[in-house]
Amino acid sequence: MTHAIDVRDLHKYFGQNEVLKGINLAVETGQVVCVIGPSGSGKSTLLRCVNLLEQPTKGTVFVRGVEVTDPDADIDAVRRHIGMVFQQFNLFPHMTALQNVMIAQQRVLKRSKKEAEVVARENLEKVGVGDKCDALPGQLSGGQQQRVAIARALAMNPDLMLFDEPTSALDPELVGDVLTVMRKLAEEGMTMLVVTHEMGFAREVADRVVFMDGGVIVEDGAPAQVIGDPQQERTRSFLRRVL
Ligand code: ADP
Ligand code: MG
Repeated sequence: MTHAIDVRDLHKYFGQNEVLKGINLAVETGQVVCVIGPSGSGKSTLLRCVNLLEQPTKGTVFVRGVEVTDPDADIDAVRRHIGMVFQQFNLFPHMTALQNVMIAQQRVLKRSKKEAEVVARENLEKVGVGDKCDALPGQLSGGQQQRVAIARALAMNPDLMLFDEPTSALDPELVGDVLTVMRKLAEEGMTMLVVTHEMGFAREVADRVVFMDGGVIVEDGAPAQVIGDPQQERTRSFLRRVL
């Protein structure tokens, strides 16, 4: 069976600093996997190696059966199937919400303006900001901006979504709206790899939780196991700090 994501013995060095020390992680199609762990443990680097925003030093990464670490791989084609949402929303400040969701559809997928607009409106509606099409990012709350960023990713019809701490930059009262959208996506069967500090979300939505520390996966299992009954002292000590 082909996994949505299959990471094998992934190592990443920045200079002399080995930040990923042999990661093995397979995500099945339709699965939601949450990655938790302390700051600096390599969570973002792992995500960025999946869509080759970072070049792995050693090891292999397969996305939907295609080895993206193969030097001959068509990286643009692979990336087109992967949506990514960051802590910082990275919207174009001079473009409306609608334009932000249209632009990559037109430039990358070569959709017509008309089609891109239809798809943009659908997705802005889906994430609950259908009434904000004409607003500039600066006129939106952080939670609304992040939902526009999610709509932008969804408009590209991704097969899988990578989320890197999507709610960490938000005021606490805005976190719930974004998590609700992510929960809905999960229920619709989207394959999702999510770095998060939201333990409630991980517990309720994730099929699996992966705890990383110091560039290795320390625990990997069902949420009830990893969060509810951790086996390793490193996991317990992390959870004591965040729960
Ligand atoms: P996390 O997301 O878990 O907080 P990161 O993957 O961002 O961890 O970082 C892991 C380690 O890699 C950290 O020590 C960080 O300083 C280092 N690092 C990340 N990106 C770079 C980079 N572009 N250049 C050098 N070091 C980096
Ligand atoms: Mg990070």
